[in-house]
Amino acid sequence: MRLILLGPPGAGKGTQAQRLVQKHGIVQLSTGDMLRAAVAAGTPIGLKAKDIMANGGLVPDEVVVGIIADRIDEPDARKGFILDGFPRTVPQAEALDELLKKKHVKLDAVVELRVNESALIARVETRVAQMRERGEDVRVDDTPEVLTKRLASYRAQTEPLVHYYSEKRKLMTIDGMMTIEQVTGAINRLLDAIGATESVPAAKSVKKAVKKTSRKGTAKKAAATAKKATKKSAKTAKKSAKSAKGVKGAGKAAAKKAAKKPAKTAKKAVKTARKGGSRASTAAPKRPAAARGRGGVARAAQTRKVAKKVTKKRAKTVKRLTKRR
Ligand code: AMP
Repeated sequence: MRLILLGPPGAGKGTQAQRLVQKHGIVQLSTGDMLRAAVAAGTPIGLKAKDIMANGGLVPDEVVVGIIADRIDEPDARKGFILDGFPRTVPQAEALDELLKKKHVKLDAVVELRVNESALIARVETRVAQMRERGEDVRVDDTPEVLTKRLASYRAQTEPLVHYYSEKRKLMTIDGMMTIEQVTGAINRLLDAIGATESVPAAKSVKKAVKKTSRKGTAKKAAATAKKATKKSAKTAKKSAKSAKGVKGAGKAAAKKAAKKPAKTAKKAVKTARKGGSRASTAAPKRPAAARGRGGVARAAQTRKVAKKVTKKRAKTVKRLTKRR
């Protein structure tokens, strides 16, 4: 899974990224953390970034793009990553597109945490107080003055990415003013809806089961498995559409896409079952051909009927859920 968390300072990107890391076992790539480490270590990049960061400006694109290009090549990022604080400008986003293209990997989603700006100062103040309480070093850029500048940088240079990713149909906007738990829940539901997590591709395992049954079993078995697969697909479609509730923007499209997936699987499953039926017929020469034929055709017709109904019902559910918004 490859995600971008987008949002102004204090929106909760870091908190949500850590939760995603725990749940999905992928790495969090925070350019802010990497730059702070470079500053602390006094590397050439750190020396270049130090003053810019302390003043709430943005480090040059080529510097951060270089850092990310190296980092996503490391073995622990192969399984997936969450980009937190990158990209922050359109040229950075374009550079990321190129990097991913070269690696033949795609971005699953860009999750925008939308927050009320007036609440951000209060949030950062709370964060500073908590860090002080824990005896941790407080960030030099976590002062009201620098935060105002960081917010201005966000508005001018990062906010255009909302449009950039919306055009690419990658953007999912979540209300970042909800509680941490609620935001996490919304993100996870959204990832389920777009099929970025393991739960939706469950339909795939049903498809596998159908294939297996149809290969070694009879037409009857294969048709029954196809029927089951169709039912499960319908459920998954409904779940996908439901999951996209509360998600704005491309969420609608994601729901539709996710809902279509199980339909395809169901259709394929039916097809496989039918094919399996004829294959099974050859494998079971003792049964009278007429009985095999008629039974198989009737069952296949019945299964097709169920699949058709499911497709219609699913389309209605998606329409109903997306209409509400
Ligand atoms: P953050 O921890 O994400 O709030 O980042 C802290 C500071 O690091 C920012 O205010 C910038 O000065 C710098 N920084 C982090 N990521 C980037 C980036 N992608 N592009 C430019 N500057 C960045």
